[in-house]
Amino acid sequence: MKRTLAVMFALTSGMVSVANAEVQENIADAPQNPLATPHERPQATYRFIDPGLPTTVGDGVSAAGGVSNVIYLNNCKPNGCQVTPGNDDSVNNRSSIPDQASTVSPWGYSDAVWTQVVDCVKATYAPFGVQIVTSRPTSGNYHMAIVAGTPQNVQMQQGVGGVSPYTCGYIPNAISFSFAGVYGPNVDDICWTVAQETAHSWGLDHKFDNKDPMTYLQSGPTRKVFQNMAGSCGEYQARACQCGGSTMNSFQEILQTFGGSTPTPPTVTITSPKAGDNLPVGFPIRADIMDDIGASKAELRIDGNLVSTLTSAPWVWNAPATVGQGTHTIKVTGYDIGNTPAEASVSITIGAACKKPGDCANDTDTCVDGRCVAGEGVTGGLGSTCTKNEECKSGQCGSDGTGNSYCVENCNPESDGCPSGFGCISAGASGGVCWPGAGGGGGGCNTGTDNGGAIFLGLGLGALLITRKKRR
Ligand SMILES: [Zn+2]
Repeated sequence: MKRTLAVMFALTSGMVSVANAEVQENIADAPQNPLATPHERPQATYRFIDPGLPTTVGDGVSAAGGVSNVIYLNNCKPNGCQVTPGNDDSVNNRSSIPDQASTVSPWGYSDAVWTQVVDCVKATYAPFGVQIVTSRPTSGNYHMAIVAGTPQNVQMQQGVGGVSPYTCGYIPNAISFSFAGVYGPNVDDICWTVAQETAHSWGLDHKFDNKDPMTYLQSGPTRKVFQNMAGSCGEYQARACQCGGSTMNSFQEILQTFGGSTPTPPTVTITSPKAGDNLPVGFPIRADIMDDIGASKAELRIDGNLVSTLTSAPWVWNAPATVGQGTHTIKVTGYDIGNTPAEASVSITIGAACKKPGDCANDTDTCVDGRCVAGEGVTGGLGSTCTKNEECKSGQCGSDGTGNSYCVENCNPESDGCPSGFGCISAGASGGVCWPGAGGGGGGCNTGTDNGGAIFLGLGLGALLITRKKRR
C-alpha cells in the first residue's frame, strides 16, 4: 500500500512538471501499481486533457478539428520518433504526453511480428470506417499511433504500457503511445494496447469487460475485440464512466465516431474439384480464400449440409465417406475478419458418367442421374432387397417402414434420373432416392402409390427419416 502511494505520488509530481499546464493526470484512472504486482501486465493509461484545447485552430492544432478516419501506425523505424511537447498535432510530431523534446526508440522486434500486430489492429477495427496505414500520410489529418519504445522515452514511469490524451470525444491529430518495448514480441498484448490507446483518443474510457480492448483485466481471451454491449466502465472494479453514465458500449461509440466499414467480401475459389468432375468417394476439396485484410473462417457444405468449419488456412478437406455415388453440390463459404461472407460452389458426380444404362462399361450397371451404378441384376444393386446398408453397393438400404427394404441410390427429384421401373422420391434436404415402382423413369409420370409413408435410410447407422412425396 505504501508503495502504491509512492508511485501515485511519482505520477502526480511528474505531471506537475508537464509543460502544458492544462494537462492533468486522471488520478482515478491510475493503474494498479505494477511494482506491487510484478507479473501484472504493463497497463495502458490515459491523460485527461482539456476538451477545449484540441479543437483550437492555430497554436497547437495544424488544421481545423474534425474526425479523420486515418490511423497511422508508426513503429519509429529506423531512427526513433522525435516528439515535442505541446498540444496534440500528429502532423508536426507534437504531443501532450511528453514534457520535453523526446525520442521514442524504434520497434525492436522482427518485421514479421510488426506485420502481425498491424493485421491484428486492422482486424480489431475492421467493423468501422477507419483506414489503418503504416506510412505517414502526405496530406490531411490523421491519428498517429506510435507503437514502439518504452514509457521512459516520454518521461513516464516503468509499468506503463501505453498512454493517450483523452477527452470525452474525438481529439483531432492526436498522438497515442503504445510502448511495445515493454511487452516483448507479444502480438496480442501490443495489439490490445494499440486498440485501447487509439480509442482513448476518440473518447473511450476503460471498460470493466475482459473481452474488450478497453479492459485492464488479463482474464478473458488474449485477443480483445470491441464488444457491442453496454457495460460498466472501470479498471479492476466497476465504476461510473468518466464521461457520464454508468455504462459504455465500445463498439457503438466507435461506430458513432467513424461509421461502419464498407464490407469487402473475400474471394472464394474452389480449386479442386472442378465443376462436373466425376470422382471417387472421399475426394479432396481445396479452396482459396483471398481477402484484403484476412480470411477468418471457411465452411464446407455438401448438398446443403454443413460438414466442417475451418478457422485457418489451408482450406482443405476430404469429402466424408458418407457422401456416396451421385451428383453433389460442394459449397465453400469464406468469411473475412469482419465476418463478411462469400461463397463458391461446384457440382460433381461420384461414379462413372452415363446418359443411359448402355453407356456403362459393365453390362449389369444401370444409369442414375448421369452416373453408372450397380443395377437390378447384381447382388446389392439398385432395388435389391436388403436389411442393412452394408448389403448395398451404394451403402444405402432404404425402408418405407411397412416392411419393404431396398438398396437405393441418391437421385435428384427435379431431374428424375432413375432408370425404368424406379422413381425418384423426394427426400427433402437430402435430395431423393430411386425407389422401385415409384415412377416410370426418364421423366415419366409417377405411377407409384403415394402411401403417405416414409422411407428410412441408413438402417443400422441410425435411421434417416425421409418423407415420401409423390412427384407431379
Ligand atoms: Zn487505457
